[in-house]
Parts: sequence; structure tokens; C-alpha cells
Amino acid sequence: MQSLSAEQVEALRRDLLALAERIETLLASPEASAKPVSLDEPIGRISRMDAIAQQNMRSAQRRAEQRKLAQARSALHRIAQGDYGECMDCGESVGFSRLEARPETPFCLGCQRLHEARD
Ligand SMILES: [Zn+2]
Repeated sequence: MQSLSAEQVEALRRDLLALAERIETLLASPEASAKPVSLDEPIGRISRMDAIAQQNMRSAQRRAEQRKLAQARSALHRIAQGDYGECMDCGESVGFSRLEARPETPFCLGCQRLHEARD
């Protein structure tokens, strides 16, 4: 099994810290929370449905960001423990290229697909 070098882990740790900070800022900003549809605007039925759909999308995005933040924190914890880079399901190496793209991921690609199919 190919494991990560200390330099690779350090690079990913920095990415994770930046990612966690970015999401924390995003979630803390009022922009990220769903605003109620304004009744003052001349807004038709379709536009109102659009606005509600957008609100639903925003709250779904917010949940996704919250999940990502939890994964990033968990990944930082695994780095501290020294078991970062191993899939939490099968124990195989997740691989640096995948971690570079998604440093917060706890799973290898195969297990990730199984999780997504289940959700
Ligand atoms: Zn796996």
C-alpha cells in the first residue's frame, strides 16, 4: 500500500485548514442563510416558485457545506492521529490525487460510490 509522504500530508493539512476556515466564514455570513421571499417586490407566481426553489437549494447547499466542514475537521483529527489517507471503510489508501481534489474525503473512490448510492 502506497502511503502519503510527510510533505503530501502537510500540503493536505494546509488545504484542510483553509477549507474549514472558508466554510466557517461562509456559514457565519448572513448571505448564506436563507432569506424569506420579499412580499414587496412585484413578483409573479412563477418568480415566487423560483425564489422558493432557490431558498431550498441554498439550505441544501448549507447542509452540504456543514457536512464538508465536519469531514474536514475529522480529516484534521485523523492527520493528528496519523491515520489520514486510509479509507475509513476498507482501510485501503485513498490516494494523493483524490485527496488533493477532496482533502476532506474519508473514503476511497469505490467506497464513496457505495455511500452515494446508499444516500
Ligand atoms: Zn474504501
